[in-house]
Amino acid sequence: MKVVKFGGSSVADAGQINKITDIIESDPSRKVIVVSAPGKRYSGDTKVTDLLISLGESVAQKKDYEESYGIISDRFQSMIAELGLSNDVWNQIKAKIDASIALIQKGDKQGMDALKSCGEDGSALIVSAYIQYKGVPASYVNPKEAGILVRDQPGGAIVLDESFEKLYQLRNREEILVIPGFFGFTPEDELVTFSRGGSDITGSIVAAGLKAELYENFTDVDSVYCVNPMIVENPKQLTSLTYREMRELSYAGFSVFHDEALIPAFKEKIPVCIKNTNNPSAPGTMIVAELPERDGDVVGIASDTGFLNLYVSKYLMNREIGFGRRLLQILEDEGVSFEHAPSGIDDMSVVLRENQLPKVKEEIVVQRIKDELEVDMVLIEREMAMIMIVGEGMNQSVGIASSAASAFRKAKVNIEMINQGSSEVSMMFGVKSQNLSAAVQSLYSTFFE
Ligand code: ASP
Repeated sequence: MKVVKFGGSSVADAGQINKITDIIESDPSRKVIVVSAPGKRYSGDTKVTDLLISLGESVAQKKDYEESYGIISDRFQSMIAELGLSNDVWNQIKAKIDASIALIQKGDKQGMDALKSCGEDGSALIVSAYIQYKGVPASYVNPKEAGILVRDQPGGAIVLDESFEKLYQLRNREEILVIPGFFGFTPEDELVTFSRGGSDITGSIVAAGLKAELYENFTDVDSVYCVNPMIVENPKQLTSLTYREMRELSYAGFSVFHDEALIPAFKEKIPVCIKNTNNPSAPGTMIVAELPERDGDVVGIASDTGFLNLYVSKYLMNREIGFGRRLLQILEDEGVSFEHAPSGIDDMSVVLRENQLPKVKEEIVVQRIKDELEVDMVLIEREMAMIMIVGEGMNQSVGIASSAASAFRKAKVNIEMINQGSSEVSMMFGVKSQNLSAAVQSLYSTFFE
């Protein structure tokens, strides 16, 4: 039995929905389907989730919201009409949108998440109705009925372990099940959404709960590339990757897959295949627990901008017990999440996503570090980028760091920071954002050409 997830571009309009129902019908083991909200139909288009968020903001600010409501309603209604479905499907979607708007108007904190979930919910209602319309038994299954239980946490829901057992019971159902991605319910029955892009998380949770043989994730690329194709033209495609490699790659800017999403599938050792809705016969990229030996040590280069480096230096820091903890405690007190914390003898850097430290918070944090830790220097460098070279084979090879360093030298890019986790699956380099492309291109030619 396969669990199949379709991303936003795969349900963006009636034409795409036709393609996905063909994909579902072409393989009887594709039994459980998870869908995203309708995404962009063309570049410059707006995703339904973004439309719902701006609708919700207008409602909350008591502004006129007719226009945004109209755009959302047109998108759903035109899909429903083109697919030849009854207007009842729209009435069900509309009832949920209206109920969520009423919650926001009452100041209920669930309102915004409820409204955001209407994109995936609408897709699932449409897709299940269309499969039935084509004569194949199918049902819409709400995440509550499916048993997706979550904990509400800032930044997005976290799945609770109880979910997996409940989900397993869906195996008893005969028909095709269509589940909306992106949200679950707390034990107190509150609807909570995952972080953005979170339909991937639902897909992976469902695949793990059902102990699927395969979790197929359909998107709009033939396979995962070893580097961002916006930076390197026509890069190599990856036919297989391990979970750990994919996790590292998606963390640093591989937008193909949500970085948290693999964990549930990974724990159950369910193989994941990334495939293209627009070219379903292409083999795609397989992600598995372990791979036999293969050529090359570095399998991918990930890169992302939007980081900052908080640098502190204090003479004899290495002898001061508790320094690191106290520095990180200040960040914790101020609600700032950090990504990496490489340290030296007299200095320590903490790498954060820039959005974690808006200017106002920066002043408070810097002042507290000066006052409480009596450091010699504290410095914030913004506009940093992280580049990560990834590959399971790296820990058995000599000279990877040296090849990487010479690639930076060839590109005349200064490395601001190097960090290698003890897993040795990845090596990370901090550079100034403006040097990102040159460095990535040079690393690509060193490791892949
Ligand atoms: N629709 C949600 C978003 O745009 C979740 C998803 O598409 O995976 O973030």
